[in-house]
Order: sequence, then C-alpha cells, then structure tokens
Amino acid sequence: MSLVVQKFGGTSLADAERIRSVADHVARTRRQGFEVVVVVSAMGRETDELLHLAAQVSDVQPGRELDMLITAGERKAMALLCMALAELDCPSSSFTGSQAGLITDTLHTRAKILEVRSERLRQALESGRVPVVGGAQGVSSDRDVTFLGRGGSDTTAVALAHALGADVCELYTDVSGVFTADPRIEPSARKLRELSFEEMLEMSASGCPKPETRSVEFARNHAVPLHVRSSFTWEPGTWVVSAEEAEKRRAEESSMEQAIISAVVHDTSEAKVTVTHVPDRPGIAARLFRSLADEHVNVGMIEQNVSIGGTTDISFTVPKAFLDVSLQVCRSHAEEIGANDVLADPDVANVSLIGAGMKTHPGIAATMFETLADEAINIEMISTSPIRISCVVHSDDVERAVQSLHAAFGL
Ligand code: ASP
Ligand code: MG
Repeated sequence: MSLVVQKFGGTSLADAERIRSVADHVARTRRQGFEVVVVVSAMGRETDELLHLAAQVSDVQPGRELDMLITAGERKAMALLCMALAELDCPSSSFTGSQAGLITDTLHTRAKILEVRSERLRQALESGRVPVVGGAQGVSSDRDVTFLGRGGSDTTAVALAHALGADVCELYTDVSGVFTADPRIEPSARKLRELSFEEMLEMSASGCPKPETRSVEFARNHAVPLHVRSSFTWEPGTWVVSAEEAEKRRAEESSMEQAIISAVVHDTSEAKVTVTHVPDRPGIAARLFRSLADEHVNVGMIEQNVSIGGTTDISFTVPKAFLDVSLQVCRSHAEEIGANDVLADPDVANVSLIGAGMKTHPGIAATMFETLADEAINIEMISTSPIRISCVVHSDDVERAVQSLHAAFGL
C-alpha cells in the first residue's frame, strides 16, 4: 500500500470548521487506499500568541520552558484533529514528537533531529490507525521536550516521510503551490507544476516563505518527493522532485522549449552592513566573520572590492533581527582590524532569479541587470550560484524589480 505523509499548516487548522475539513480529506485519502501519517502545526496564529504571552509574563524565558509552552500549540491541534477523525469513523491516534520517536539535540528553541525511532508509528499504521503527530517538536537526548524552530513542522513531516519510506510528503498550506513570483506583488504570477530540489532550495533560501528551508534541504538529501498544495481547494499543487524527474515531467507536459528561469523571488528580511577602509591583508575577514559566527549571526551575501591604496570595503547582509549584534561585533573590532567606519543600511531587499537552465544559457545576468537599469534601479550587491543570480537593491525598489524581471523573462 502507498504511504503518504500529510502536513497541515496553521491556516489549514485555524478553527473547528477547518479541522473538520482536514479530517474529511484525511479520511478520503484513506478510503482511496493510501496509508496516511498526519503532521499538524499549531492552529492559526497560536505559536505567535504563545510567544506574545510569554513576553508579557516575563523578560526571562528559559529555552526549556519556552519549548514546553510552544509545543502545546501542536498538541492541541493533534488531539482535536483525532476527535474530528473519530466522528468520521477513521481510527487515529495523536502522538507528541517525543511519542513519535523524534530524538533531537539539546538546543532549545531550534533543536535539530538526530534520529527518528519510528516503531510506534509503524505499529499504529499496522493496526489500521492514522498517526497524527505534533509538528516541530521532539525529545532531546536529555529527555526534555524540544522545539525545532519556526516552520519546523515541515521538517517533521519530511523526516517522518523519509523514516517511514513514504511515497510523497504533502505540505498543505493556504496557497495552491509555489509561484513564479509572490502573487501579492505580481498578480500574473503562475503556479509552477514542478521544481527540482535544488531550485526549491535556492528559492526558499532567497525568501520564498514556504516550504521551510531546512525541510527542503532534508528532502533533497534523502530524495523525499514533496507536493506543496492547498488545503482550501485541494487541487494539485507544485511537485518538488529530483532534477531528472522534474525534467521528465516538464518534457511530458509540453513540447515547447523549457523556460530557462523558473521564478523571481524577493526577500526583505535582511539588512546590509558595510565596514569601510579595512586593510587588505590576510586574516582580517577571518577575524571579523569568526566573531559574527560566535554570536550565531547567519551571514547572507558578502562582498569585498579590490583594494585601492591598501584598503577595501567589506559589505555583507544579515537578518534584520541580527543587525544590532552585528554592528556591535563590527564596531568592537573596528579599531583592532584598522577599519574606518561601520555603516548600517536596513532599507535593502534582495531580488533573485532562479532557474536550472541558467547553467547552460549565457546572458541571463546581462538581461537581469539591463532590466533593472531600465527601471533606474541601482544594484548595491550581486551574488550568484550556478542556478541563481541575486541583487541587493533599495527596499523601495523591490516590487518594481520583481514585476519588471517577471515580465522580462516571460514568466
Ligand atoms: N507552529 C510552529 C510555527 O508556527 C511550527 C510550524 O508551523 O511549523 O512556527
Ligand atoms: Mg506555522
């Protein structure tokens, strides 16, 4: 029998009616002859609300207690969904992350999965039940409840799909799939029928909000096919599969020449830091970026120019939430590394073109820069991978950048 993991996000479970509609779908999938394992997120905005409540109660939030609090959201959702399934005569059992055998490290609020001991879920399946697992949670090697981080339910779902050998991991959300651009900015954006893991990973790391980046990484590493789709319309969504499989599906779909670019993605969550007049000698960048790493700053793009007169400017981007600590680190090192000044620019945005075809097609960067130039949009930084070109622009320009690139590349 085919096994499918179905993960439902917060909006899919926002109220009683939504939970009943999800239960209907799970029961229907079973009647179609599939074995089903369900992973649930917390209802609606509950995770945000719990975090807000914690902040109101205390300025001191020990990680262990925060994880205990947040994971209660998923626990509520899984019990309610099992009740809705019971009413449909679909036998099910809820499991916390710990009960489901998700063993994690001890890093509270952003734990990593170390191992999945899936015996209990297998037993539930063998006895004809649908296991409903609380997402984004596990139990640490210290036997404490852990939370995997925001969006971590996607990772739970992919990890279970891999451990149980599922045929597909379906990620249900409030949009009908992955789009060629954010439809709120570009109304003509189209749903993509398929993407390769690599393309999805680049998109997710460049600002595409769903699925969560870590889950895509896991899916790629273990070749778990993903199907990102809507729990409101239940229509087929976007498949994320291996590059070969994506190629095959595209060829089956149309005889037309395949698009070189798959999507344009933007990200407004980062800020830019510039350290000016840094002496151009070995060890300077090493010292600066080691100190940032020690403060858990996840640096995005980095740019260093050729030196003029023995000094150079180093610019890099960081998540806005890490701007203050990044500035502190840079300023505390400025004198030691002989830098002139540390400048912060929070009003930046990143716009990226992604497509496996750019590997073999010259001129993509040129067209991208010309398109931005025609819009009089200044490019502040550029970075590339074999299947991505990203530009940092002023945040006021980002919507125009997305719209003009979407048109220029015929998406
Ligand atoms: N409910 C958690 C969050 O909102 C986990 C998840 O949805 O994946 O971050
Ligand atoms: Mg969520």
